[in-house]
Amino acid sequence: MAGATMSRDVDRAAVYAAEDQWSAAIDRGGVIDFFGSRLQLPVQTRFGSLPAVQQYVENLVTMYPDIPPVSARHRRGDTRAHYSNGVIAIPMAATWACRESVLLHEFGHHLNSGSCEGSHAPQPAHGPRFRALMVELVGRAQTLESALLLRSCFESKGLVVPAHVD
Ligand SMILES: [Zn+2]
Repeated sequence: MAGATMSRDVDRAAVYAAEDQWSAAIDRGGVIDFFGSRLQLPVQTRFGSLPAVQQYVENLVTMYPDIPPVSARHRRGDTRAHYSNGVIAIPMAATWACRESVLLHEFGHHLNSGSCEGSHAPQPAHGPRFRALMVELVGRAQTLESALLLRSCFESKGLVVPAHVD
C-alpha cells in the first residue's frame, strides 16, 4: 500500500521473501521440525471466488472490535494483490493470489493504516509495526504455531518483529 505520509518502505522485499517461505510451509501444513521441536502447522485455505474472499475478510473484521469494515474486489491482470482505503484488490485469475497468506498480508495493511492515524507516527508500509500486527493476526486467524513460524521467517531475514503492537 502507499500513502502520502508513509516512510520509505525499505523492508518490503525481505518481508515478501519471508512470507513466501512461511506460505510455502502452510501450503503443505502438517508437522515440521522447528529447531528440534515438532511444530504442527495448519494448511492454508485457498479461495476460488470473490464472495469466499469477502466472507473470509469479514470474519477477520469481527476479530477486531474497533476497526472499519473491509471489502474485496477483483484486480485486473496477473499482478500482486493490493490494499488501499479499506479495499483489498485480488487478481483472482492468479492462483497464488487466492491463498489465505495473501489475504492476511493485505488485511495486515488494513490494521496498520487504520492505526497509523491519530497518535501514531507515520510508519513504513512493511515496517516493524506491520510485521508485529501480521504475526498477531496470524495467531488469531490461524494458529499460534503458524504465527511462530512466520515470526521466525521474518527474523531469519534480519527483520525485527516487536513483541507488542502499540
Ligand atoms: Zn504489502
